[in-house]
Amino acid sequence: MPRTASAPTFVGDGKIVFTDRDYPDPGPGQLLLSVEANAICGTDREQYYEGSECVPGHEAAGTVIATGPETRTEVGARGAVFLMDYCGTCRSCQAGYTNQCLAKRNDMGFTADGGYGPFEVVHETNFFPVPSDLSAAESTLLLDVMGTGSHALGRIARIREDVESLFCSGAGPIGLGVLAMAKLRFGRDFPVYISDVSPWRLEFAKTLGGVPVDVRDPDAILELSDIDAAVDSTGKTAVRASIMQLLGKRGVLACVGHGEGLSLTVSPDLIATERTVMGSEYFRYAEMEENLGLLLDNRDYVGQIITHRMPRSQISEAFDLFLAGETGKVIVEADPS
Ligand SMILES: [Zn+2]
Ligand SMILES: [Zn+2]
Repeated sequence: MPRTASAPTFVGDGKIVFTDRDYPDPGPGQLLLSVEANAICGTDREQYYEGSECVPGHEAAGTVIATGPETRTEVGARGAVFLMDYCGTCRSCQAGYTNQCLAKRNDMGFTADGGYGPFEVVHETNFFPVPSDLSAAESTLLLDVMGTGSHALGRIARIREDVESLFCSGAGPIGLGVLAMAKLRFGRDFPVYISDVSPWRLEFAKTLGGVPVDVRDPDAILELSDIDAAVDSTGKTAVRASIMQLLGKRGVLACVGHGEGLSLTVSPDLIATERTVMGSEYFRYAEMEENLGLLLDNRDYVGQIITHRMPRSQISEAFDLFLAGETGKVIVEADPS
């Protein structure tokens, strides 16, 4: 039976109002979730200021409360929602590159209602089940924090097998995810230099084992050299240019943060030094399985990235808090019933 429920509507200018929203029954291959948690992401900024037709939220986790025809998931199953509603049959999907689907149906929270609302209709194929003792808030860590961070590192590792140092620009949630996944993949002693302009964020990155680089001091970054690999989460031209200066020969830069450009002088930057500059977008659905194992083995360590949990009725306050910049992940949760 279709249901109507009050959901946060992003009307623009940083205003969120609650309006009634219709949620259809799940169709063939679909599930209806009761959303229990959705993590706030820097990417939400655009919908927050520009407004959004659909309910935003692309880092959701919840419980299945109804299933459509042709599904195998049981009511009561809990899990996280993969952002990209991929087709599963195109050339990219068949090869496992579900983050590069050629016939994507939707981006959840951008072109279809996402996880800030009380319900979310998803395809079973982009629902990732988790064990029942993992909280919904923790389950959201499998998305942009662990998934996006780990995918970037995996892409770097495919280019270069002997990475012994990593620089990450930006200590926001994505940068912190890169830092945490580098520690989990390469060992706690693996050096991860992480830059930011915010003293709070640098201090926070330190508690996760990062070596803070305060870029308000122009010399700080110049002291680094011959770095093997870097991930840019800032999307800033100037930051990417400074990364090219500190990469050594065979250095690899993975750009994760959308935004500005990058100008290269091809001979010294790429040819003579055999450096690689690449993009890395979200992650493949199949990567979630390995990341779930890492999360279950390192719950306390990765869980530190969540610094605040707030009820959906206080979503505006949650955004104010997140945008003030002194948080890790802020989770918007279902109000206690
Ligand atoms: Zn996100
Ligand atoms: Zn596809």
